[in-house]
Amino acid sequence: MSAVEILSDEFDIEDILDFTHHKFQKWARHSVPFSAAWEVTNACNLRCKYCGLSSGNALSNELSLEEAFDVIEDISQAGTHSLMLLGGEPLVRSDVLEIVGYASLFMSVGINTNGLLLDEEFANKLKTAGINQVKVSLDGPKSHDVMRGTGTYEKALRALKACKNAGIFTIIEMTVSRLNYNEVPAVVNLAMRLGAAVVVNEFIPFGRGEKYPELMLSREERKRMQEFLLERKKLYGEWRIAFEDRYIISEDAALLKMVADPFCNAVNVGCNAGIFAYGITPDGKVLPCPTLRLTVGDLRERSLKDIWKDSEALKTLRSRELKGKCGRCELRYVCGGCRGRTYAFTNDILAEDPLCWYEPALGGGCFGGRAEMDS
Ligand code: SF4
Ligand code: SF4
Repeated sequence: MSAVEILSDEFDIEDILDFTHHKFQKWARHSVPFSAAWEVTNACNLRCKYCGLSSGNALSNELSLEEAFDVIEDISQAGTHSLMLLGGEPLVRSDVLEIVGYASLFMSVGINTNGLLLDEEFANKLKTAGINQVKVSLDGPKSHDVMRGTGTYEKALRALKACKNAGIFTIIEMTVSRLNYNEVPAVVNLAMRLGAAVVVNEFIPFGRGEKYPELMLSREERKRMQEFLLERKKLYGEWRIAFEDRYIISEDAALLKMVADPFCNAVNVGCNAGIFAYGITPDGKVLPCPTLRLTVGDLRERSLKDIWKDSEALKTLRSRELKGKCGRCELRYVCGGCRGRTYAFTNDILAEDPLCWYEPALGGGCFGGRAEMDS
């Protein structure tokens, strides 16, 4: 039974839409660029088969260290409190510790790495520079080396342990495809054993991954995986497990009840691209999200404050006037689909999300009972 059906004694479908719309508008009107994901370089010391950005060599016009310092000051003034450094592979930038050190004076800083260069010594340097969290990409014991290269799984494990020993909050970042779908429980267990958190993302066939469309999860697999992760999240705690949890609100009556209740302060806007979050490319372009590859401004030319205020594309995202199935969905203000992936598939930031299993107001999922994942 879907969350909407479970709550039908308390909320009409129209109530859910109206109450969540009201909260959404309030937050969208006062939107702040709170959280940034910055690709500090396109260079990478691996050539993962499914890299969505086809990373490899540095761009010829990447931001210099001096420009990086300017960007940090600028985004801090605009209201950014949380910064994740990505790549490519951020640790191949020889000045990455200086970037971490300077940014840490203004905001909370994390780094997302493949772990190849991250030994005990480097973990301690990151800690001294002020890092708050390290995400290490790890796809499961059987599939990791297949997609990323021989010996890379062991190096990722070494990096996780080194960060843990250095006292850094550590997160496993898993990319799930049909290759490692059945390894999700093992990776969750590994994270729990290591005292780490885990973030589960889905493989989408872009960039170098374009050659493997058959590895993308089906809607049914996506639903089963998210149900599994939701159960584990309830078991281990909110902060231990994160995943692309937009559509799953259609199955999560407790969360939907909180965010739809007009007397409860809990808010969930679903896709937060251009609402609280944004991305920065290695050459200083601003994106609504690293997944939404649509340039909305250039930090070499304008301040983030101005870009955030004036960009028509960002205003469009904040309108959430979606099309197709998402446009008639009672959950559009608490989900909204992934605008980035939708854009990549359709070239339209408002189109319906083709990855979603939910059928609006028709009694929930298209697929019957629950199936268990292999464990
Ligand atoms: S139809 Fe769109 S808004 Fe509704 S649950 Fe699916 S992705 Fe989210
Ligand atoms: S575009 Fe996708 S990845 Fe980016 S914030 Fe929205 S839902 Fe998340």
